[in-house]
Amino acid sequence: MTAVPEISLNNGRSIPQFGFGVFQIEPADTVEAVSTALKTGYRHIDTAEMYGNEKEVGEAIAKSGLDRGDVFVTSKLSNDAHLPDDARAAFDLSLEELGFDYLDLFLIHWPLPTRYDGDFVSTWRTLEEFYRDGRARSIGVSNFQPHQIRRLHAEAEVPPAIDQIEVHPYLTQEDVRAFCAEHQIAVEGWSPLGQGRELEDPTIREIAERIGKTPAQVVLRWHIERGDIVFPKSVTPARIKENFAIFDFELSGEDVGAISALDKNERSGPDPDTFTGS
Ligand code: NAD
Repeated sequence: MTAVPEISLNNGRSIPQFGFGVFQIEPADTVEAVSTALKTGYRHIDTAEMYGNEKEVGEAIAKSGLDRGDVFVTSKLSNDAHLPDDARAAFDLSLEELGFDYLDLFLIHWPLPTRYDGDFVSTWRTLEEFYRDGRARSIGVSNFQPHQIRRLHAEAEVPPAIDQIEVHPYLTQEDVRAFCAEHQIAVEGWSPLGQGRELEDPTIREIAERIGKTPAQVVLRWHIERGDIVFPKSVTPARIKENFAIFDFELSGEDVGAISALDKNERSGPDPDTFTGS
């Protein structure tokens, strides 16, 4: 089976660089999609309380016959549960829904700097409890900007292992990635395919045709070459397999550079500095 590289984290653990994302997969379709991914060889699933499909992710893993320890599973704290007691209850519920006694990674989904008096540090200290009691093997953040991570470094004890941010060819996030590299924080790129929109780009299509791969494979391989962790979403079995078939080729440095040069600083999601969470 294809060997997916492992990325080392700043706490001594590691994470498969490639996984399967389940945002916008209906609960009714989730068991089938995750089962197809696991059969294909994916061993890393990215879900969240707010996706509403943790229960089905847990079901698919349970019925796969794989050991719990063979699959890396991430979930994220709901925007409505940042207050410490709410975060504790939400984390308990995530574990219950998934049917697990631990998560491999638990993230604060959004920093929400204009809510909760901008106090994401107290929320982070609550995640530190889950890390210390072993129920979250690693903890991290999502959609955090460098200035917000600096506050965690200054005011909390456990540094985030991960920052999960929007990254695709039209939003290459060089600044946040450079900050994370400097501070030993692994970067996860969400919407790695730009939700499919960037697959028509002429530069990407030209590279794909020249090397005999699909545009999606070229974009996903670009992320891998840059060292980011990605987990594209699909419910279509042929695409789930196509997206996984990226570990038997490499892109030239020139092609990686040409794709990075497509950056337009174009977000598809909200701006983390102003997003209120609803
Ligand atoms: P994505 O970039 O993975 O795009 C998914 C879409 O691309 C699919 O719905 C389909 O339309 C298309 N697609 C997939 N494979 C294809 C292929 N081989 N050929 C052509 N089209 C294809 O977008 P996403 O789902 O937004 O992001 C991936 C994951 O990132 C999510 O499932 C979720 O786990 C995570 N995420 C996190 C956040 C966050 O705030 N932390 C936000 C969005 C997504």
